[in-house]
Amino acid sequence: MAKIGINIKQGKIELPKVIVGIDLGTTNSLIAYVPDQANSEKADVEKGRSPKVIPVRGQGLVPSVVYFDEHGTPSVGHYAKSKIAQEPERTIFSVKRLLGKSYKDVADKADYVSYKIIDSDSTSEAMVKIEIDGKFYNPIELSSLILKEIKTQAEKELSVQIEQAVITVPAYFNDSQRQATRDAGKLAGLDVLRIINEPTAASIAYGIAEKKSGNVLVYDLGGGTFDVSILTLEEGVFEVLSTHGNTYLGGDDLDRSIAEFWLKKHQLTSNQLSKTELQTLRMIAEEAKIYISQDDIWGQPEAQFERAFQCVNSNLTLTLNVSELQNAVAPLIAETLKSVHKALSDAELKPDQIDEVVLVGGSTRYPGVMQALMPIFPHVSINNRINPDEVVALGAAIEADVLAGNRSDVLLLDVTPLSLGIETAGGLMDVLIPRNSKIPTRLAREYTTSVDGQVNLKVSVFQGERELVGENRKLGEFVLKGIPAMPAGLPKIQIQFALNPDGILKVAAKELRSGVEQEVEIQPTYGLTDGQVEEMLLAGFQNAQSDIELRLNQETINEGNQMVYTAERFIEKNGQHLSAEEIAGSKQRIEDLRCLLNDKADRNSINKQIELLNDYTRPFAERVMDIAIGQALKGKTLD
Ligand code: AMP
Repeated sequence: MAKIGINIKQGKIELPKVIVGIDLGTTNSLIAYVPDQANSEKADVEKGRSPKVIPVRGQGLVPSVVYFDEHGTPSVGHYAKSKIAQEPERTIFSVKRLLGKSYKDVADKADYVSYKIIDSDSTSEAMVKIEIDGKFYNPIELSSLILKEIKTQAEKELSVQIEQAVITVPAYFNDSQRQATRDAGKLAGLDVLRIINEPTAASIAYGIAEKKSGNVLVYDLGGGTFDVSILTLEEGVFEVLSTHGNTYLGGDDLDRSIAEFWLKKHQLTSNQLSKTELQTLRMIAEEAKIYISQDDIWGQPEAQFERAFQCVNSNLTLTLNVSELQNAVAPLIAETLKSVHKALSDAELKPDQIDEVVLVGGSTRYPGVMQALMPIFPHVSINNRINPDEVVALGAAIEADVLAGNRSDVLLLDVTPLSLGIETAGGLMDVLIPRNSKIPTRLAREYTTSVDGQVNLKVSVFQGERELVGENRKLGEFVLKGIPAMPAGLPKIQIQFALNPDGILKVAAKELRSGVEQEVEIQPTYGLTDGQVEEMLLAGFQNAQSDIELRLNQETINEGNQMVYTAERFIEKNGQHLSAEEIAGSKQRIEDLRCLLNDKADRNSINKQIELLNDYTRPFAERVMDIAIGQALKGKTLD
């Protein structure tokens, strides 16, 4: 029987602890748990353990939006969402799209948002940053604010302590996006026990994991993104076979198509409407879509949505019936079906080899989705029983319950107890295999040199949860020798970690341009007792917040040092193309940056100075580039 109780330890009230599942979404986020977890006696009826969404300020869905007021104080959720139209440059939405990305990755989408994504350098590999009122924020910090709000409010709601979580990510997230999600969790004060794929979480929620084997197709159409994933289940373990989609296609685009339909019908174009009118029109379109999507309306061809709307100084009556809605959004639904077929062919499966189809995301409530999928999968009944907004968070909560040791019907894999990684600039730990990764596993990441002509690279391997390697356990090191001398940044050095089923780690380093390589074998758990592993985990968790701060600072320092190095080399090499004033101006800014770095100034000041130096030198860099191209072409004739 479940007990409700509060423990009193050394005079301090200790609230019960629960492990939660969090769906950190592009548009909305949710938190869920399995009730009774904190107080359950192990013998609790396993099957009866059903997950629930925890209300945050009275609502299940928390808009993944962060607003900063004029003092820089953040707020998250519905209030922040209401500021998107009023104070667009201070309101950040869709930050998930920026997570784990460099500016280079997102530069072509910068216009999509109303806040300032800083273009410190259009070729920059550094983490993208957002500037608000002269302050710089990175996507990890912003995501952590969303997580912190969810965590704190859920703790209040349940009167519990939440320290551990399972967080979901899209199946297509790469290693750095997953690591960024993990870091956001840490920064929010959460020990992220596991990162799981959203389609896997949805499948777990439907109890598909208990079937032990089969192929599952998960169709996820949210507010702003679409993806389809095909998973195969073996012995209760999911593996992603393929994934396809469009991170800029979702319910918002359906609304846009309906708005376009109305504009065309009334012989208007979107340019004629003010921003506010257009926004209002899209909101009415969403209402119309949701109205028509109701079961009892969808079945009636004569049913119609009707609304008066005033724009461009005229009074319009907007109407929409079922077939008009279907026609307006048909091209978008057709595009999602193309992805379904692409995912099937990538997984080398025919539709009849799919055993389960699962619908995820609010937009799958549009009945046209089900109607489009049924003829492709006539042999299965499509899973849409669970609220499509909640299904991912509910699945994550079940996984959390498994990790809490409350269920034995869902298989737990053999996992690595501690993270494994290498030392990078400034003594930072770069994790290649996060703790709790299933074994066997293999992961490779590319690195490069930071100094011109570097011919050796020391690879130091560490284990532990701290952000600085000095606090972690060193497992070994070796030197990759004989890298051909090249300018900094040009060598492509791939470091691969392969952890075999016996827990042996093979670390290989290879310079891909020359083929130079080196390999070592390490036994990470050798000599570590369970108690020591626990101690290391605890230290990682207790220092998580300050560690991440240290890491963010160190990353900025690294970027600053690199900038000083590159700018100095640039002036040295290209002095003849620069005026005395330009040289002096650049040197002054380099010196200012160096002083800030030496004085260990705060992150924001360093970032600002990097920006200043960049802005100042960019025109010369472009000019020098043009000269170089001109010289390269000189004397060459075109056939
Ligand atoms: P999500 O990102 O999963 O929360 O999905 C949000 C999207 O679902 C928005 O574009 C909504 O317009 C859409 N949506 C919510 N309810 C319905 C409904 N009943 N019918 C069609 N679309 C819906």
